[in-house]
Amino acid sequence: MLTRKINLIVIHCTASRCTSTLTPQQLERMHLANGWSGCGYHYYITRDGRIHPMRPISAVGAHAKGYNTNSIGVAYEGGLDANGKPADTRTPMQILSLRMLLQALVRTFPGTRICGHRDLSPDLNGNGIIEPSEYIKMCPCFNAAEEYKLLIREQ
Ligand SMILES: [Zn+2]
Repeated sequence: MLTRKINLIVIHCTASRCTSTLTPQQLERMHLANGWSGCGYHYYITRDGRIHPMRPISAVGAHAKGYNTNSIGVAYEGGLDANGKPADTRTPMQILSLRMLLQALVRTFPGTRICGHRDLSPDLNGNGIIEPSEYIKMCPCFNAAEEYKLLIREQ
């Protein structure tokens, strides 16, 4: 049984180059090395579009400081281009799988907000908008809040 309330889904990238591979096992080992109990994300979508469950939804994740208690963390493999610059490197299969997963999660947890990790950066000038100059980091390297706003409206 789920004992925590879910009202937020945070999208991440692994900040790895689109030319390299990061397997679910490698990702888990990286996070274990941080001293965490396992992978910090709940789902991981590799470049082939496969959705890997990494942590049960009942367990609090380790992916967005200050927002873990009520959220689900979803990461896709990539986020950096071949030169190591932040870029939307999602493959067509990743885009499809991400949308399917989010659709299912939003139906399971109505009223859930979807945003990118960078949208949780502090609003430094207090104008109510998290602007690019305020991003702590670029993760997930695309505008997740904008891309999935229709998913939320269709609920
Ligand atoms: Zn992130």
